[in-house]
Amino acid sequence: MGVSENIKSLLINDIPKNVKLIAVTKTKPISAILEAYNSGYKIFGENKVQELSDKYQALPKDIEWHMIGHLQTNKVKYIAPFVHLIHGVDSFKLLQVIDKEGQKNNRKINCLLQFYIAKEETKFGFDLPEALHMIQLPEFNDLKNVNIVGVMGMATFTENTHTIRAEFKELVYIFNQLKNTFFQDNPDFKEISMGMSNDYKLAIEEGATLVRIGSLIFGERNII
Ligand SMILES: *Cc1c(COP(=O)(O)O)cnc(C)c1O
Repeated sequence: MGVSENIKSLLINDIPKNVKLIAVTKTKPISAILEAYNSGYKIFGENKVQELSDKYQALPKDIEWHMIGHLQTNKVKYIAPFVHLIHGVDSFKLLQVIDKEGQKNNRKINCLLQFYIAKEETKFGFDLPEALHMIQLPEFNDLKNVNIVGVMGMATFTENTHTIRAEFKELVYIFNQLKNTFFQDNPDFKEISMGMSNDYKLAIEEGATLVRIGSLIFGERNII
């Protein structure tokens, strides 16, 4: 099956209407993205700033671009003018830089707080006490050009569905704690970004509102 058929099949068979599919295009050529675009799909995700800005430049401007990877503070400026949602906010420093760049571009930039839920050393993110500490900093209230719309996490890469499910449950617990304590008055705070090609069905069962799916749509990535 081709790219557009893969997307169509996911949307018809596997992804409920209230869950948004982010088609992850990292390492894939413009032609593959255009194939999806021309069939009507316009929501894509990239995990590297350079690749994201190159593809933004090359492609139609009504695409909704998601930055799903680790983001360095010195690179925020390249995506600040156009990015729809930054999934991987993992420090207050980064949030402050996004705020500054949002101000420069006269816009509010949507962000998710990334949480570390996996049992792997390589994944980024806050734990709940760290996030609670940040939200209660006086300077946190000074942020006017970021809109924190929810949380993001990556489960351990494993076949063990009990582990994955427990990690997704943990992210939902964190989301609810934050929502009830600090974001009750922000109706935009409603997103839970979790689930990839290998675990998106579990993620949806556990309450994901955004799933990030790459290889299932575009095929396996070549190791570079
Ligand atoms: C690559 C990537 C995905 C998609 O991975 P697949 O297994 O190809 O679906 C999702 N989220 C993040 C953060 C990624 O880097």
